[in-house]
Amino acid sequence: MVKEMAPNAKTRGVDLASLRIICYPDPRLTEVCTPVDEVDDAVRALGARMLELMFASKGVGLAAPQVGVTVRLFVASPTFEPEDRRVYINPKIISAEGVQDGDEGCLSFPGISCKIRRKKVATIRALNLRGRPFEETGEDLTARIFQHETDHLDGCLLVDRMGSVARLANRRVLRELEEASAGA
Ligand code: ZN
Repeated sequence: MVKEMAPNAKTRGVDLASLRIICYPDPRLTEVCTPVDEVDDAVRALGARMLELMFASKGVGLAAPQVGVTVRLFVASPTFEPEDRRVYINPKIISAEGVQDGDEGCLSFPGISCKIRRKKVATIRALNLRGRPFEETGEDLTARIFQHETDHLDGCLLVDRMGSVARLANRRVLRELEEASAGA
């Protein structure tokens, strides 16, 4: 038996000012995240804070587990323009097709960039900040962000998507991240 948690237990009472982007191999990054129960002010504030952290780190996408909050939410701005910022709550990729190969990085894997094959086009369904469902179809980088960020919500990381060649090429940086975490 697991004790039932109060609705939005993971997003209420989060100290937003102290949130930081966490790095591999922090165990929170491999958790399967739980859905957001209700889009309330705490969820909206979390999304806003995550966008701040994402832009400050020059990222185009950031998932909630990357700030240690293991709920199904991510933020993105494929163009890196503030007016293109969006928050996706309880997102689900409902269709995807085609293939693209390209370099991919992750704010939780600083110093790593590797070729990852993704679907070229992806349609996502999510809730917006008002709790209303919406669908969006993205191509190329936007589709890549959808796939990378929804992977995070299932605890699937860049290191799990890397082929053996990329893993070998990045082994020094991966080891440094592991050592930094062990020494922290
Ligand atoms: Zn990432």
